Amino acid sequence: MIQARAEIEKLAGTAAQAGPLPQDLASRQWHRQDTVISLPGVQIGGGGFVVIAGPCSVESYQQLMATAQAVKRAGAGVLRGGAYKPRSSPYSFQGLGPEGLELLARARELTGLPVVTEVMDSAELELVEACADIIQVGARNVQNFSLLKKVGRCRKPVLLKRGLMTTVKELLLSAEYIMAEGNSQVILCERGIRTFETATRNTLDLSAVCVLKEMTHLPVIVDPSHAVGQRRWVGPLARAALAVGADGVMVEVHHRPEDALCDGEQSLRPEEFSRLMAELNLLRSLLPLRA
Ligand code: PEP
Ligand code: MN
Repeated sequence: MIQARAEIEKLAGTAAQAGPLPQDLASRQWHRQDTVISLPGVQIGGGGFVVIAGPCSVESYQQLMATAQAVKRAGAGVLRGGAYKPRSSPYSFQGLGPEGLELLARARELTGLPVVTEVMDSAELELVEACADIIQVGARNVQNFSLLKKVGRCRKPVLLKRGLMTTVKELLLSAEYIMAEGNSQVILCERGIRTFETATRNTLDLSAVCVLKEMTHLPVIVDPSHAVGQRRWVGPLARAALAVGADGVMVEVHHRPEDALCDGEQSLRPEEFSRLMAELNLLRSLLPLRA
């Protein structure tokens, strides 16, 4: 198979131009049925719609527990929260590190929600794997191939975010890095790409969801929070993600966004998140034929 790929890549130029091949592990042609990832109390992929919610960063016991309980009450299926934060400025809050992971474990105990948290560096992978139910690889690490190989050797599902400048084909090839190491539990996440448009933080590429759902059996979710960067637009785009056929959304929620150490302006307040959950439930009941 390696020989066949080498021949195709020679003809097409580069692997990214050749794109994922039919025999690639992530390919829908190779594996027709949707991959379904089962976690305590929730399944991701296969026609359901998961809502992952929580703060951008774990900031304190009080902040995480208040927010975790609020998203649980509203019906979220997974709790998110960063302990290691990829910040543009080295002077911005960088996350609580191991203490943040411990707090996430306590929030899981309190709410029963599985947790997703980001690994930024292979040095912290063991700790993150021990704590997380889903290991997140962020947009900035989508082509950190040595990290991808290492998470590919982990036994936990991986949430792989599309990079700011990553094509759909490149995203699939990054998923392939993880799967080729033996970890087939990969969730893809569209989170906005960088375009000429500056009105929003990034440009949410919802068409990528349609393309990905056709090309791969892996679950595809959408993060509208990092795409738009403003809380008032998060709801409309989360609804659009459901309508376009995504397997779920990941949304930032903070119990007091004005006090957030990171991404407060795009974080929903608990009551806004509850409203969004009600809207998504209504929309789901109206779209029974969603793939
Ligand atoms: C995040 O989800 O916490 C995050 C940093 O997102 P991204 O990698 O998409 O910027
Ligand atoms: Mn954030």
